[in-house]
Amino acid sequence: MGLTLGLDIGSSVAKAALYDAGMAELATAARPVLQDRSRVGHVEYDALAVQASVVALIADVAARAGVTPLSIGAIGISAAMVGGVLVDAENKPLRPAINWEDARAQSLIEGIVAQDSAVLSRIFRSSGCVLQQGCTLPVLAALAVTEPEVVAQAHAFVSLKDHLRAWLTGRIGADRTEAAVGPGSAERRDRSPAMLELFGLGPLAHLLPRVEESEAVGGHVTPAAAAITGLRVGTPLAVGAGDVPCSVLGAGGWNTGRATMILGTTAMVGQSFTQPVFEPPDLGLLFTLPGKRWFRAMVNVAGTMNLDWALATLAPDLSGCADPFAKLEERAAQSPIGASGVSFLPYLSDSGIIAPVIDPEARAGFAGLAPRHRQQDMLRAVYEGVAFSLVDLLELTGFSGERIMLVGGGARSALWPQMIADITGKAVELFDGREFGARGAALLARVAAGEIPDIAAAALLVPPLRATVIPDSSRRSAYARARHTFQQHRQRMLG
Ligand code: ADP
Repeated sequence: MGLTLGLDIGSSVAKAALYDAGMAELATAARPVLQDRSRVGHVEYDALAVQASVVALIADVAARAGVTPLSIGAIGISAAMVGGVLVDAENKPLRPAINWEDARAQSLIEGIVAQDSAVLSRIFRSSGCVLQQGCTLPVLAALAVTEPEVVAQAHAFVSLKDHLRAWLTGRIGADRTEAAVGPGSAERRDRSPAMLELFGLGPLAHLLPRVEESEAVGGHVTPAAAAITGLRVGTPLAVGAGDVPCSVLGAGGWNTGRATMILGTTAMVGQSFTQPVFEPPDLGLLFTLPGKRWFRAMVNVAGTMNLDWALATLAPDLSGCADPFAKLEERAAQSPIGASGVSFLPYLSDSGIIAPVIDPEARAGFAGLAPRHRQQDMLRAVYEGVAFSLVDLLELTGFSGERIMLVGGGARSALWPQMIADITGKAVELFDGREFGARGAALLARVAAGEIPDIAAAALLVPPLRATVIPDSSRRSAYARARHTFQQHRQRMLG
């Protein structure tokens, strides 16, 4: 039994991690992914450049673990979901690949809504997701209108992870996690003819490849791919899954009864269920997970993005420090709970927010500033604002359990986990390891390779617990007052 490679290709960073038989993370490597945002509303990337990054990542991660790629016994790939790569019969991209943030389908969606005002609710009742412009079906429908000659040459429209799998194995396919959010049918964990029809894609349905289980064998490394990557010919690849399902599985969130908070560039809070959950209606996302589970999630498009902005803008003197976040937290901690009356609404993203309300025009802002306030109050307000927005999301999921798992870059903070524990009164669990998406992909690979019997067994291989942060009840009422002020400002701004 060799090592297992997990790849997680995000929108901004591509990551690789190697695991031993006990799922210990032996080494990780990362490379940037470049998105071309030069045309307003378009977000595109070069899928061949991503292939080149994957070659480099495999070499990097193997070197860091002190092995060669020949020691890799199984591979799992995860990547940013939806959008897609339009490819010919040789899996060659026919045009730049399209990222999930792309908004070219907006006018097409507006046209569909103008004809049928209930259409967005119908989509939600099928997929469990608020429709985003960058989803597979609207993007393909938009391309069919704007670039019909390119679409006519296409053999398939695949997600990034499926494009990479086809490149390494010669086998083209899709998985259930992607098919269901296309939008498709969450109930059937598959595409939906009704949804295809809705986007006028009946005649192009052949471009969307066959849907397979994420943990099935999705092919084997070809001699050509082995020559480029140094991998062994015949190494099995799992079909793989999207990055959110892989992160949930890799962090241990597949198991029910706990909430999972992913505090990365964007923030997501959700929990797993044994059946699809469509409540609250017309809000949030529903991810189909491998192994017949569903992850009901609420998203704030801006998570740690707020902190990166605060660091660069409010404390630029710290940018060159060895550990700028530690210094930033020291400053924020000088301000009392409630940031001396300053609130920060953490809706920094250019695409606004999709929970607790949908408002593409929503933007971030400070409220309550007075002459007495100092930098430390504004910094604390940023930390608190992000924490309050996470708790807003948690409440929308209807979570009533006692334990919250916190993962993502924000889990490295000393301030945020305690804040979330104190505000919610729930224990916050932190884990060893960094790359949970890659870990989830590697777990799929180990099931595909027959080393783990099934997803339920894989989900029990939770990462080692680093710490459990216990709520301090003496701070609860001060946070409740601060949150009330935050909510008042939020309501004034968002309505
Ligand atoms: P992504 O969502 O892009 O995959 P990650 O989950 O790796 O990102 O998180 C990256 C973010 O983590 C950075 O934007 C940074 O703001 C944040 N981060 C890293 N270290 C800390 C820290 N010690 N405290 C707070 N935030 C941190």
